[in-house]
Amino acid sequence: MTSLILFAVATVHLSLGADKPTLSLNPDRHVVIVVWDGMRPDLVTPQNTPTLWKLAQEGITFRDHHAVYLSATHVNAVAIETGMYPQHSGLIANYDYRSDLDNEKFVSTEQTKVIEKGDRISHGKYLQAPTLAEIVRSAGGHTAVAAAKTVGFLLDRQADVQTAGGDVTLSAGQTRPASALAAIKAMIGYYPGFPIYTHAQRDEWTTAALTQSLWKEGVPAFSLLWLGEPDLTQHETAPGTPVALAAIRSSDQNLATVLSALQQKGIADQTDVFVVSDHGFSTIEHAIDLQRYLLEDGFHALVDWEEKPKPGDVILVGNGGSVLFYVVGHDGATVKRLVERLQRSNFAGVILTGKPVPGTFPLSKVFIDTPNGPDVVMAFRWTKEKNEYGVPGLIESDWNRQAGKGTHATLSHFDLHNILFAAGPDFQKGAVDNLPTGNVDLAPTILRILKIPAAQAMDGRVLSEAMIGQSEDQPKAAEEKIEATQDFPDGTWRQYLSQARVGTTIYLNEGNGGFTAKAQH
Ligand SMILES: [Zn+2]
Repeated sequence: MTSLILFAVATVHLSLGADKPTLSLNPDRHVVIVVWDGMRPDLVTPQNTPTLWKLAQEGITFRDHHAVYLSATHVNAVAIETGMYPQHSGLIANYDYRSDLDNEKFVSTEQTKVIEKGDRISHGKYLQAPTLAEIVRSAGGHTAVAAAKTVGFLLDRQADVQTAGGDVTLSAGQTRPASALAAIKAMIGYYPGFPIYTHAQRDEWTTAALTQSLWKEGVPAFSLLWLGEPDLTQHETAPGTPVALAAIRSSDQNLATVLSALQQKGIADQTDVFVVSDHGFSTIEHAIDLQRYLLEDGFHALVDWEEKPKPGDVILVGNGGSVLFYVVGHDGATVKRLVERLQRSNFAGVILTGKPVPGTFPLSKVFIDTPNGPDVVMAFRWTKEKNEYGVPGLIESDWNRQAGKGTHATLSHFDLHNILFAAGPDFQKGAVDNLPTGNVDLAPTILRILKIPAAQAMDGRVLSEAMIGQSEDQPKAAEEKIEATQDFPDGTWRQYLSQARVGTTIYLNEGNGGFTAKAQH
């Protein structure tokens, strides 16, 4: 049986070697996603992004595009690849406490060791939904996934397993299969690693690895290029600084390299190109030492530990603009006291809980309700004020970065709104889509283009209103705002969440909150 399967896989691989997939997928189409990590919509201008600006004129601009929450890289990488909200993929945060994976510390959810253990203990279900790369391969198509930062193996963690060495995933200079790296190095040299080389050099190298090496024998049905900029420079400085604008121009230049490679290969007119960011970006107004804040209030708050945490301990996992709280033993009284402390703080924006607590929303309202998930999640407060470079969106943030720097992962309007552009044979030309759209919509839309039926329903929708030759009625959007309050003797906590809905797909617009003290008499 095993040899029969291997033989079948090998046959598929050989028959596809000549560029044209022959199985169920559309043989006349290629799809390329180019991700600009952390790119804000308001920084797309003819000056900052000439290539993207031109692509937008030739294709369609999605004016109201949304990240999923937590508005962070790993979470949105998985949403783009699976078409699922975090609670259906199982990955809710960049940094999480997963005692099944590591009970001695929090984990970074994209690390190879974490992914491998997650897949080992769940029989391949570290992500509980198949990825685009996996779906395309199982329909007989080829894939190439190249990430300049470590998110690559989260985007496509099984290239070697599924294709017996046919397709390649590249992540921060490492490949799956490992044997594929030699050919890339021979062609374009070594990955320009930390700390000698710049983020822009790593992005440029990764772009060259995709366009020159992985595309050498032909452009596969599905390709994805993940650029680390402008996210990394915006973290080191802030959105809108001269170096952050230069980082945006480097991503624009890499997009130009991709587009000219498609032209040179003569397949530009058969290729749909998506340019998307994983999330938006904000500037930190205050960094909050939340552990100290809670310790001073009598909580046994931990961010790391040497002895095994005890019932009632509160484990804090910082994700920049949001914090996950795990209350060991799930003691209800501790959860309630923690929530009330946050509600009376001057930094909480929206508080979410696993079990109902007054003045909070359930985790399921933002689609991060998972088994063994956090007891409490807090998104920090935000304002529309501008930073000193004129870029709006200030947030309170966790202890990992200083005030004045850039970060994200809140429920702010500016973290939840990101870019999406599409151009190619299946998209309207010179058009604008004003309907709400989101990162969860890419996977179902791409499967429609490649004519691959999805094995299971996805949370996202096909962006048919933006496409040519789709017969569905024009979808309609609806908006909803919910509120939760909690009264205290000296004032009231109030938080809200605003969302848009198209069909059954929900997009989070923004959420915020604050404590209003009673007038003194
Ligand atoms: Zn980031």
